Amino acid sequence: MAAYQAYTVRTIDRHPRWQGLAPDLREAVEVVSQVLPFRVNNYVLDQLIDWARVPDDPMFQLTFPQRGMLAPSDYASIARLSRDPDRADELVREVRRVRLGLNPHPDGQLELNVPIVEGQAVSGLQHKYAETVLFFPAAGQTCHAYCTFCFRWPQFVGMPEYRFAASETDELIAYLSEHTEVSDLLLTGGDPMVMATDVLRHYLDPLLEADLPHLTSIRIGTKSISYWPARYVTDEDANDLLALFRRIVASGRNLVVMAHINHPRELSTELAVAAVQRIQDTGAQIRTQSPLVRHINDDPAVWANLWRHCVHLGIVPYYFFVERDTGARDYFSVPLVEAWRIFREAAGTVSGLARTVRGPSMSTTAGKIELLGPAVVHGERCLALRFLQGRNPDWTYRPFFARYSETATWIDELEPAFGESEFFFMPQLRSMMTADSASPAISGRQ
Ligand SMILES: *Cc1c(COP(=O)(O)O)cnc(C)c1O
Ligand code: SF4
Repeated sequence: MAAYQAYTVRTIDRHPRWQGLAPDLREAVEVVSQVLPFRVNNYVLDQLIDWARVPDDPMFQLTFPQRGMLAPSDYASIARLSRDPDRADELVREVRRVRLGLNPHPDGQLELNVPIVEGQAVSGLQHKYAETVLFFPAAGQTCHAYCTFCFRWPQFVGMPEYRFAASETDELIAYLSEHTEVSDLLLTGGDPMVMATDVLRHYLDPLLEADLPHLTSIRIGTKSISYWPARYVTDEDANDLLALFRRIVASGRNLVVMAHINHPRELSTELAVAAVQRIQDTGAQIRTQSPLVRHINDDPAVWANLWRHCVHLGIVPYYFFVERDTGARDYFSVPLVEAWRIFREAAGTVSGLARTVRGPSMSTTAGKIELLGPAVVHGERCLALRFLQGRNPDWTYRPFFARYSETATWIDELEPAFGESEFFFMPQLRSMMTADSASPAISGRQ
């Protein structure tokens, strides 16, 4: 694999493919990227994108901002200001205004679930569900390429007040030592696999040396198998990385690479398949998760192919998410019932080995809520839902019902069925949240 080469709006015209695109398409990407910046690399450009199908190509949609992601009036004002070098200050203000309108900070994501130890927030940790602690290593808060739908985009684009970070593993270990209910640690980002092996080791070695017998699983959330599989195959420190994986497995722990994969093409290159095999050879397991996104994978055949391909490679399909309420949401969102139809239709054509996947799931303030599907109860059309994970573990797997809606795209657009005034968990959620906020909403991700 050629050396890693990143491209942004400032350098993309050096790539030979770029000059081949229609000028209006290039201009649209350049304008929208003022608000929603992109970053891609030579692997994505040369091996994943099908340039004959641009702009509809799903990999192009996944990595390049599109005109339809901004409201027409916002697009016009950004386009006008970016053409005028004398109005650079105005452009900065306008970009900020449009970004804030894209909800960069879905309710509660940053303040909630951050553990407090001796009155101090432990930075870089989130602990929402009893068994699993999320760790955001400071050095892993960026990505090889940026997904256009990603809710993490504010932290990449110079809005530092929205940035998570952790500087030290010590605090993490101290926290885990006191929380023996935690079996899983999930390293996340950004993408922790952007870190060089040396840096990753700096985070993980102390954990392996610590006395934490209750910590039985380490998960690493990453898009690297899709965006830079050379990380595991030809990068200078690829073998050191795999040796680190082997040490984790040898410590008696379950190591799981939570691969974010939106489209089967991401697993189709020789390099990606080699990466998968080399990871599995260490004894680590790979599971996949990803959201349903309009223009990228809103097609049952795409999901069925993805899951089949995963099973063939020994990867376990895990989560099918509903896209959350941030970023260019109007461009990407799919109504809940449509998400369910796509999910059901895809699941109906794959073997049970691929039906390990759970969804459609919304990650809300209250928990991960799965849409079981439409139902008719005593003549009333409704939607059956349940918690896959609840802020209160007692909510787990309890079915509940919302009034049927053909258009709702998120839990906050659903109303309880049967004339009830609120969902069963709301009073408890309110009391759990009053410390943080006067009017808790269940819409937020965390
Ligand atoms: C999804 C999620 C987890 C992990 O949940 P599992 O069902 O165990 O995969 C942990 N913490 C948060 C905040 C999550 O959103
Ligand atoms: S790789 Fe993951 S964190 Fe990075 S931009 Fe894509 S979805 Fe977001």
